[in-house]
Amino acid sequence: MLNTSGFMGKMLLFVAIITAPVVIVSYWLVSHELLSIEYALLLSLTPIGPAVLVYNRLLLEVSALTERMGLAATDPLGKHIEGNASRGGLLPVNEFFLTMQQYKRVLAKMFTDVKTQQENSSRLFDLLPNAVFVLDKKRCITSFNQAASKLFENLTLSDEITTYLRHPALLKAIDGALIGSALNASVEFELPNRQVHYVEAHMVKVEGENPEDDQLIITLHDLTSAKKTEKMRVDFIANASHELRTPLAILIGSIETVLGPASEDRDAQARFLQIMKAQSDRMSRLIDDLLSLSQIEMDEHTRPSKSLNLNELLTSVSDMLFAKAASLEKEIQLDLPKTAISIIADPNQLTQVFTNLTDNALKYSREKAPVIIKLSAVKQNIEISVIDQGEGISLEHLPRLTERFYRVDRDRSREVGGTGLGLAIVKHIVARHRGHLEIRSVLGKGSVFTVKLPN
Ligand code: ADP
Repeated sequence: MLNTSGFMGKMLLFVAIITAPVVIVSYWLVSHELLSIEYALLLSLTPIGPAVLVYNRLLLEVSALTERMGLAATDPLGKHIEGNASRGGLLPVNEFFLTMQQYKRVLAKMFTDVKTQQENSSRLFDLLPNAVFVLDKKRCITSFNQAASKLFENLTLSDEITTYLRHPALLKAIDGALIGSALNASVEFELPNRQVHYVEAHMVKVEGENPEDDQLIITLHDLTSAKKTEKMRVDFIANASHELRTPLAILIGSIETVLGPASEDRDAQARFLQIMKAQSDRMSRLIDDLLSLSQIEMDEHTRPSKSLNLNELLTSVSDMLFAKAASLEKEIQLDLPKTAISIIADPNQLTQVFTNLTDNALKYSREKAPVIIKLSAVKQNIEISVIDQGEGISLEHLPRLTERFYRVDRDRSREVGGTGLGLAIVKHIVARHRGHLEIRSVLGKGSVFTVKLPN
């Protein structure tokens, strides 16, 4: 509502300021008898009319200006500034608007820059592969990235971090970092029942202007696969030592018997020498397989470069195992295409692959049942299948067969001279050739081990 008394007061003051010099001059003229009192009065009243007019005009211009400024502030395109720019008046309104327009453009640019910067940083934040949380002094989440929301469903801003992460060591570290003076801290812990189940939390405290504005950035690094690799390494060493210790113990026992109780018994000595030979052969096979596995791992990242005729290679594998097959009263049948198939491969390694697979097929197939080696070109792939009519493998074992030292039946494997490393070697060699191994098996009927290689 218009404040009329205030308005009148201000107008009177304005009129008084404009009229005052004329009144003073009139008074001076009257006092020096240069002007009569009536004229002096008339002279003194003359500026009142124009002063009221000027005051009203100024008032109108200022209120129009205020109105346009209000519109301009809410008008992002600045149409009000430009549309009214040509109007004249007592005040330099157009210049004022021009300056304001420039000022507004600068502000708009600054605003866009800041917004772009903010969007870029939040995009970067979301691109980080690790889950990141920002906490306030009360351990409440003030920000998190996409990786964090993938890790924890229903992650909500302003929830306490303890809603999602409750590990005591982590909470202690968070409090330590928030309250204490340490700016950096890290702690490793498990996340039960999750795909990412072993993480290292790294904490960085960001000090605010006031202590209550301090923030804590928590980054979770996924250590699951590193831990898995470490565990595999430890298990591998334990398994390898165990595999070597058993024949070694039998060997030592046999030597002691030959030197002690059986020193005079030639028949017993001959029996123990047989045992010693069998056990040292077993140790030698195991060491050979361990060495080839480590050699294959070393070569895993170099691509094979030799052209190789698969028909010839499979024929030579069959020939090499002919004697073994004959001793088991079994037969190896080759099913090869008439036109030879050649690929770029490592001949020694592929020989090892098909020797291991055919040897297994001979070891684990039924008496007198044939083993078939079949080669064919299927679309972009070359497929080599080793087919046996054996005891077969039940479904739950299939995914683990290529793990080192994994056997379906440990005693049976030892009985037939297995080391438990044959299929692990096959898997690594096939991976080096950018192929893959497919195992199909039906209990009581037999198994098909197919190596698929890119043509
Ligand atoms: P091993 O030296 O014990 O034969 P491998 O790594 O070659 O070790 O094979 C792992 C296990 O897979 C074997 O112990 C055996 O239980 C099973 N296996 C492999 N090939 C066959 C097959 N053709 N038929 C049945 N079981 C097989």
